[in-house]
Amino acid sequence: MDKIVNKFCCLSMLDAIEQPDDSPLVYSADTRTYTISAPRALMKKDMVWLGYCVEFCPFCGAKLPKDLADERFEILETEYGINDPYDSKQKKLIPKEFKTDEWWKKRAL
Ligand SMILES: [Zn+2]
Repeated sequence: MDKIVNKFCCLSMLDAIEQPDDSPLVYSADTRTYTISAPRALMKKDMVWLGYCVEFCPFCGAKLPKDLADERFEILETEYGINDPYDSKQKKLIPKEFKTDEWWKKRAL
């Protein structure tokens, strides 16, 4: 239980994150970003759904940790010279740790 509570604010959030096909909540571990959109099961490849960043848990109201998208961009640029991580060529140069939560956990962010 402590481990679950330490990783996510509550069991409802954990359930929502672990069932991405049914849930409108998406957790991106690489940037520690929570977004809300349509459940993946409803998404189709030829449609674009808006996604909204979520700052508070919709279940328990807890303030969610700060997203690290800016920090990730900055470190990739200053330490690895990657200034456009969405570019197909540069994307291949992104170290593996930056595709998960490893990089920000290592840096205690
Ligand atoms: Zn919660």
